Amino acid sequence: MLTGYHVAVIGGDARQIEIIRRLNEWNANVYLAGFDQLNESFTEAIDLDVESKQVEKLDAIILPVAGTDDQGRIDGIFTNRLIQLDESWLKNTPEHCTIFTGITNPYLNELTDKVNRTLIPLMDRDDVAIYNSIPTVEGTLLLIIQHTDFTIHGSQVIILGLGRVGMGLARTFHQLGAEVSVGVRSTKSAARVYEMGLTPINMNDVKNENMECDILINTVPHLVVDSLIIKQLPSHALIVDLASKPGGTDFKFAEKRGIKAILAPGLPGIVAPKTAGRIIADVVSHLLVSQVRKETEDE
Ligand code: NAP
Repeated sequence: MLTGYHVAVIGGDARQIEIIRRLNEWNANVYLAGFDQLNESFTEAIDLDVESKQVEKLDAIILPVAGTDDQGRIDGIFTNRLIQLDESWLKNTPEHCTIFTGITNPYLNELTDKVNRTLIPLMDRDDVAIYNSIPTVEGTLLLIIQHTDFTIHGSQVIILGLGRVGMGLARTFHQLGAEVSVGVRSTKSAARVYEMGLTPINMNDVKNENMECDILINTVPHLVVDSLIIKQLPSHALIVDLASKPGGTDFKFAEKRGIKAILAPGLPGIVAPKTAGRIIADVVSHLLVSQVRKETEDE
């Protein structure tokens, strides 16, 4: 339970709705900004007024998964207004106020440093990224089924990266009967790919690797799907790029070659906002409770 906690939820997408629901269930005092166009009303929640004394009570602020832009503006799909996270009001929060974001950026890092508040980029945490990989893999399957006229079973699939998302993709596509190869850059990851019964591709020497496939999925957040790789793909191949914006594909070159390439950010929020919101709410609540427990023990 979060009885007695004051939590502000600012901006975001359908994932935030589930977070607000959970906070209400756990009896937290919830303050909202960026939900003025939402049909569903949260009668127990209070509109956040950053000019008011409300700010002095906040134990936590939950930002969208995308965080802020490089000037501190917070976007939300349930509002036309952009909300600004800045020093003028953040410095009025209690010292223990924790700011949760999905991903961070230099603006957020500098601002929270300046006002000496803890910033937790949730997607940097292994637990959140691994839980989040589940709806990401499901969203990838949906996208691929929608954009191909052949089965995944029996297809040649290359996955680039064997991180938290890559691992789930590799396992799932293998289980669906695809011929899976995984692009990795370390000998350790190559050994893991082999152990999984899959074919490793050495990404340090792509020139000498066979990159021909029906489906290529990228999870590496650097330009790795370049002209060298795209030139090897047959015309029916599909590229799905999951890496954070701007992705890791030379989209212009793919278009020039007539290869369909899709940048697919934010899949958990699109295909399973309820699950994705719960993942965030559960971790935030766990962190808030353990933070207060620690403060009590320290006193
Ligand atoms: P991760 O665990 O850090 O995995 C990234 C992988 O990329 C690792 O295997 C890493 O290799 C490899 N890599 C990094 N730089 C490389 C380079 N220069 N050359 C070759 N390989 C390189 O990250 P993740 O959690 O799997 O997430 C992957 C990406 O997907 C991120 O950009 C994340 O933001 C994004 N994402 C997107 C969605 C969506 O809906 N589209 C959902 C979740 C995550 P090493 O192991 O050797 O370091």
